[in-house]
Amino acid sequence: MNSITDIKGTFQLHNGVHMPYLGLGVYLADNDNEVIDAIHWALDTGYRHIDTASIYRNEEGVGKAIHSSSIPREEIFVVSKVWNADQGYDTTIKAFEESLNRLQLDYLDLYLIHWPVKNKYLDTWKALETLYKEKRIRAIGVSNFMQHHLEDLMAKSEIVPMVNQMEFHPHLVQQSLIDFCKQHHIQYEAWSPMMQGKIFELSILDDLANTYNKTVAQIVLRWNLQKGVITIPKSVKKERIVTNSNIFDFEISNEDMSYIDALDKNHRNGPDPNNFNF
Ligand code: NDP
Repeated sequence: MNSITDIKGTFQLHNGVHMPYLGLGVYLADNDNEVIDAIHWALDTGYRHIDTASIYRNEEGVGKAIHSSSIPREEIFVVSKVWNADQGYDTTIKAFEESLNRLQLDYLDLYLIHWPVKNKYLDTWKALETLYKEKRIRAIGVSNFMQHHLEDLMAKSEIVPMVNQMEFHPHLVQQSLIDFCKQHHIQYEAWSPMMQGKIFELSILDDLANTYNKTVAQIVLRWNLQKGVITIPKSVKKERIVTNSNIFDFEISNEDMSYIDALDKNHRNGPDPNNFNF
C-alpha cells in the first residue's frame, strides 16, 4: 500500500510491463478540443495513461493530443479496445490497424477486447496474441469478462490476459472476480469508478470524505488503488482532472476500506456482460 505514493506510479503486469495505476478515461469526450485539452491538462498534472476505444470515436483527438504534448510518446501508456462489430480474427487485425492510423501511433501499450461477444471472442483473442507476438502491442487484455469467460479463454488459448477492465465502484465490487483475477495474475482495472458521476448524487461516502478532509471522488479513487485496482476516472474539466489525481497524500485505514467494500449491492450501472446485445 505504501507504494501507492505517486501519480506516475505503476502496477506490474504478468509480462513485466509497468502500467500506470491512474489513467484518464475519455468515454464521451468529443473528438476535438474537448479530448485534446483534457489530455493536455492530464499530462501536465502528471497522468501518464489514457484509456480510449474505437467506439468512443475520439482516437484521432487522442492521437493529436499525444503528438502535440511535450511528453515523449514512450512515457504515455495508451490503451484502446476492439469493438464488438469488429470481432473475429481478420476483422480484429484490421480494426487494430485502423485504431493505430487514427491515433497516428505505431504501437499500443494495451489493447483490450471490449466485450465478450459470444462465439467470437476466442478468434479475437488469437488476433491479439498475434499482434502481441509481433510486438505491435506491449500488453493484451480483456474487458467485461466474467470468471466463466476468463476460464473459457484461458483453457483454449496460449496467453493469459494481462488485464481485465470491469465496471467497478462501491455498489459493484465483484470481490470473487477480483480474487480470481489476482490468483491468475490478471490485473483488475475499474471502469466507471465514480458510477459515471452518479456516486455524487448518493451520500454514501460523504462522512468518510469529511473524516479524511477529501472529496468523494478522491476517496473512491484512493479506495480503488488500495484494493490493487487500476482506475481511469473520466473528466473533461481541468479542475476535476487535477483534484481526481490528488490522492497520494493520504491513506484509507483498513477499517474504512472494509466499510467501503461493504457498500456493495452488486448493482450495475452499465450493461451485464452475461446479457448484452450490441
Ligand atoms: P466515471 O465513473 O469516470 O465518471 C465520469 C463522470 O463523472 C463524468 O460525467 C464527469 O463529468 C464526472 N466527474 C468526473 N470527476 C468528477 C468530480 N471530481 N466531481 C464531480 N463529477 C466528476 O465514468 P466513465 O463511464 O467515464 O468511466 C471511466 C472510463 O472508463 C471511461 O471514460 C472509459 O475510458 C472507461 N470505460 C470503459 C468501459 C468498458 O466497457 N470497458 C465502459 C465505460 C467506461 P465531467 O467530464 O464533466 O467532469
